[in-house]
Order: sequence, then structure tokens, then C-alpha cells
Amino acid sequence: MKLFFLGTAGGRTVTFKRIRNSGGILLREGRTLLHIDPGPGAFVNFFSTPYEPWRDLNGIVLSHLHLDHSADVNTLIESATESGKRKGVKLLAPRDALEGETRVVLPYSQRLVDVGILSEGSGYQIGDLRVEVLHRHNHHGVEVYSLLFRGGDKEVVYIPCGRFEDFWLEHLPEGVDLMIFNSTFYGRRPNIDHLSVPDVVEILTAKRPKKALITHFSLEMLRKNPLRVAKEITEKTGVETTAAHDGMVLEV
Ligand SMILES: [Zn+2]
Ligand SMILES: [Zn+2]
Repeated sequence: MKLFFLGTAGGRTVTFKRIRNSGGILLREGRTLLHIDPGPGAFVNFFSTPYEPWRDLNGIVLSHLHLDHSADVNTLIESATESGKRKGVKLLAPRDALEGETRVVLPYSQRLVDVGILSEGSGYQIGDLRVEVLHRHNHHGVEVYSLLFRGGDKEVVYIPCGRFEDFWLEHLPEGVDLMIFNSTFYGRRPNIDHLSVPDVVEILTAKRPKKALITHFSLEMLRKNPLRVAKEITEKTGVETTAAHDGMVLEV
């Protein structure tokens, strides 16, 4: 499995003042390509990879509807489906990203793709990749899910934004090949529903993946230097942890 980090910005300031790029993660396994959380710049940054949406992209996965995760979803659907000519592109998203006042995927765009709704315990096969929904997060009132991606003999867990709660540990698998954390903050902030470094340390100590990666950085995290923070997490947990940077390619 190969991962391309188009952007590593987290939260409003770093994303919308473009202190780092945003645009999510591309996941490649065999001949299958998924785009996870196509935030602002996802479409443009896609072209820094060897792929083209209309030739290579098989599916888009939204962990939740916030714009730093979804702003380019309509553009990517338009491109990947060649405005409806290329069939079979999958879109996985929580219900509140698709329906009602909160929807971020246009009804027009939804008609161009095969829509699958993310909910706890659901799972989807997209080409060579299996996507499984692990558990729901509390994150400022919107639906967010932790996701397991399985391809070849590798397993990658993506833990998007949300407030860490003990019940997560009942749902997160042990010993996977890679855990990706949207660890926005360095220190815990009880009133903001985001992951922090102490949460990452707690999860890694309990679940012991082979490797871990932190991304989705706030200004606070950038000031702390993510590379140094990753080293600190490695030392505390014994799990080799790296900090993502814009354009990073990682082979699992
Ligand atoms: Zn969010
Ligand atoms: Zn976010």
C-alpha cells in the first residue's frame, strides 16, 4: 500500500491561511486509488502525484463534512467521472455530508457516483481495497468515523478529527501496520473536540501498531515542530512515529 499526503494542515488557521497545504491523502493498492478527505487544494495537489482522477481514481472517502476535509469533493467527482461518462466511481461519506442543510456533496454530484453511507460497522470493497468503519467520534456535532483500510496483506487505520474517549479502545484493532492520527493539538484542550499528543500516546500504548504517523497540524503543533513531537511520541511509546509533510509519499 502506498500513501500520498497532499496536505498536512489541520484546523481553520493552518488550512485557510494556507500555512500548510491541505487536500487529504491518496491511498494506492494494486490498481485501486482512493482519495481520503479531499479538502481545499485536493484537486490541484492531486496532480503532484503520478495519477489523473479520470484515469486512476476509483473512490473518494469523506471522514466528515468539515470543509478542511471536503471542500474539493464536488470538483474531484466531476473530474473522476468525466462529468458522468466514467461510471463506477465510489463515494463513501457520513449521512450528514449528503443530506439536509449540512450536505457538502451537491445532489448533482451524488448522481454521478455510487454512494455508500458510512455508519458504525459498515464495510465496502472498492477494487483491491476494503474500507471498514470502526467507530463514531464526537466532533463538534458532526458525524465522523475512524476507518480501517485493508489491501494486500496490510492494514492501515485512519483516526480523523475528534475528541478521544476511552470507548475508542474497544473498537481500534491491535498491531496494524500503520495508524494515522489527525492529532491537531500538542496539549489536551477539554473544550475542543480534537486529538492531542497525550491521546496519541495512550492509543499507541494500548494498540501497538507497527508504525504511526501524525498529521493535520494546528499552529500550536507547528510551533512545537512535528518532527520533534513525533520523536517524543516514539520515545514514550516505543512505536516508530513519523510526522507527515506536504507531498510525503509513504510505502506501508
Ligand atoms: Zn473536523
Ligand atoms: Zn479536521
